[in-house]
Amino acid sequence: MSEIEITDCLIIGSGPAGYTAAIYAARADMKPVLYQGIQPGGQLTTTNEVENFPGYPQGITGPEMMLQLEQQAKRFEADIRFGIIEKVDFTGPVHKCWTDSGKEIHAKTIIISTGASAKYLGLESEQKYLKMGAGVSACAVCDGFFYRGQETVIVGAGDSACEEAHYLSKLCSKVTMLVRRDEFRASKIMADRVKNTPNIEILFNTETKEVLGDDNGVTGVLAVNNVTGEEKTIPCTGFFVAIGHQPNTDIFKGWIDMDETGYIKYAQPGTSLTNVRGVFVAGDAADKNYRQAITAAGTGCMAALDAERYLSGLEH
Ligand code: NDP
Repeated sequence: MSEIEITDCLIIGSGPAGYTAAIYAARADMKPVLYQGIQPGGQLTTTNEVENFPGYPQGITGPEMMLQLEQQAKRFEADIRFGIIEKVDFTGPVHKCWTDSGKEIHAKTIIISTGASAKYLGLESEQKYLKMGAGVSACAVCDGFFYRGQETVIVGAGDSACEEAHYLSKLCSKVTMLVRRDEFRASKIMADRVKNTPNIEILFNTETKEVLGDDNGVTGVLAVNNVTGEEKTIPCTGFFVAIGHQPNTDIFKGWIDMDETGYIKYAQPGTSLTNVRGVFVAGDAADKNYRQAITAAGTGCMAALDAERYLSGLEH
């Protein structure tokens, strides 16, 4: 059997929340160990340009920013590791975790920063332009600015889709909203706001058949009416998907309190505490509302400070 590693602070996940927690924990001499997870750098690594993170007047690409955060954490000797935490056991005061290579780690404190993943339709053409960074996005607040004065299409009918469509309508010449049923899922107030915005056109019973484009990026969407079968091409340069997010919290089920969709619940509002003592949460794993790099970084800082206070409490 391999040796058990013991640490004061284990950080699970490597988005802005995880790296910020690592910077604070390392500077507090907690010698944090951070496991990066399946997608080192998190959701921002699929974002092209980040222009709204304070401190980057010229903007920065998502992957570059995450590399800088990683380097900043390493500067204070945070132990950043490529690997996945696959299983946890939070029965006792020492929290047990297992990595994908079978290593067992016992941590006095844990910071969960596993984030969330945007859901996509899964069409080949959608994924192609997403990977090219050329016209497909799941975040209007992040990427809407790049489509100023242009036509965009957004898929979805929940509160997020309505909020994002409304956000886009202020930047874009026209927004076409594709709703797969004959009604919204969103709250009435959000749906009404979209319905009353002149440059948003809503197409009910409409699904995306294909995202169209060329070597430069998206040029339109082939949409189909799922009642009549009628197809139509909608010209656009930006295709936004707002069909929900999935928090990456499966391994914590049964240990940590979550809502029905898997978002971790804070045990005390205004803190990073979970229902398990010594386990803290930061970033999108507990946030279905803001989902911004800067808010994730902020809660990463909170989690590290809370973890530090908890550790000092154990020692005295
Ligand atoms: P939701 O799960 O509420 O809505 C997802 C929407 O996407 C649904 O309308 C669904 O359609 C549609 N959808 C799902 N899959 C597909 C598909 N393959 N093709 C086309 N459409 C699809 O997610 P949200 O992100 O909108 O909201 C999540 C939670 O966050 C909710 O509780 C919401 O109220 C909350 N929220 C609140 C906000 C606020 O109050 N300011 C802002 C944003 C979110 P269908 O309806 O047919 O199932």
